[in-house]
Amino acid sequence: MDYAYRMNVVVIGAGVIGAACADALAADGHAVRILDMRSPGRGASQASAGMLVPFIEASDGDPLLDLLTKSLAMYDDFIASLRERSGRAIEYARTGSLHVAMTDADVARLTALAAWLNDRRLACRWLEGEALRQADPVVTPKALGALQIDTHGFVSVQDLVPALMQAARFSGAICETPVEAARVDARADSARVIIGNNARAIDADAVVLAAGAWSGRVHVNGVPDLPVKPIRGQLLHLRWPDAVAMPKQIAWGGGCYTVPWANRTLLVGATAEDAGFDERSTVAGVSTLMAAVVSLLPDASRAALAEVRVGLRPAAPTHMPIIGPVAGQPRVIAATGHLRNGIMLAPMTATLVRQAIRAMGQ
Ligand SMILES: Cc1cc2nc3c(=O)[nH]c(=O)nc-3n(C[C@H](O)[C@H](O)[C@H](O)COP(=O)(O)OP(=O)(O)OC[C@H]3O[C@@H](n4cnc5c(N)ncnc54)[C@H](O)[C@@H]3O)c2cc1C
Repeated sequence: MDYAYRMNVVVIGAGVIGAACADALAADGHAVRILDMRSPGRGASQASAGMLVPFIEASDGDPLLDLLTKSLAMYDDFIASLRERSGRAIEYARTGSLHVAMTDADVARLTALAAWLNDRRLACRWLEGEALRQADPVVTPKALGALQIDTHGFVSVQDLVPALMQAARFSGAICETPVEAARVDARADSARVIIGNNARAIDADAVVLAAGAWSGRVHVNGVPDLPVKPIRGQLLHLRWPDAVAMPKQIAWGGGCYTVPWANRTLLVGATAEDAGFDERSTVAGVSTLMAAVVSLLPDASRAALAEVRVGLRPAAPTHMPIIGPVAGQPRVIAATGHLRNGIMLAPMTATLVRQAIRAMGQ
């Protein structure tokens, strides 16, 4: 620990965000207790495709782009440190991504993006015809072209969250499940977490509120509930046909994206639905994704359907995440509202939360 003040910190939520914050804080020497009403990683995180694609998620002038690119720049070190500290394997690949144009409008949008990336010396190329077939032979021959962006990649969230939890535990963090935090009673210099129906209270110096889509349901005394709502996402997990080459990289187009894993399975995402806290998959969601993936990668019609995953993305009103001390209750640090980019933003969020806790101790 490189400073003198050791804090007792309770982290509410063991999704990728809570786990990343807990790991960073425990590594700093704080006494960390993580609470989750389910098992770690069983909220939105388990449904995530794990893509790291800032230049598709945000455009020029959007403050989110700055946050995303800074977080992507941290990813190699984040994963290397985590592999070492947790002793676990984590599937992580910067394969690049292929953004496939199916219409003239797609061509216009993607060639404009290519020019913008080139201006910033970010490696990318526009591919057509034979060049596109060589880049990924399984992409539909109906594609008009594709933009390949080298820096993009993906991580397996099924590896990432357990590794974060393991590393946090090795640094002394304690995880309690299933434990549902009902509210936080904060004061100027401390915070008390009330569990369930006043069944138990946990005292802390600070609380990190990382309850994903449920963050607005954890009430904090004297301040409005966090303005976070759930946006449902459905995602298919396919077993790729043996006789066909695997897609080489992330492909995006025609209403879906695909992520190829080393074990010859493919993730296909994702719907975005305002369905409240309903975590069920639907015929409409699954059939839309199936049709979309066959139009992008025709060989997907021969793939086996391994699983359908569903998660509730935490959406904040501005579509920017809410990270930092809660106005009026500075002992409560919010880390939520990451919507489509919680995996992408995990290292940056953990860094900002770590800085907020350090600032409290000074
Ligand atoms: C289909 C889909 C695809 C996605 N693809 C990507 C992608 O490619 N790249 C990317 O960066 N992001 C992606 N996302 C978004 C990403 O998954 C989320 O932004 C991220 O998982 C949010 O993490 P979180 O920890 O905030 O929330 P969650 O993972 O939902 O974790 C919140 C945790 O808090 C717990 N909790 C809630 N309330 C309480 C309480 N009162 N007491 C105790 N515990 C509580 C829950 O049980 C849960 O474990 C995708 C999401 C979906 C649904």
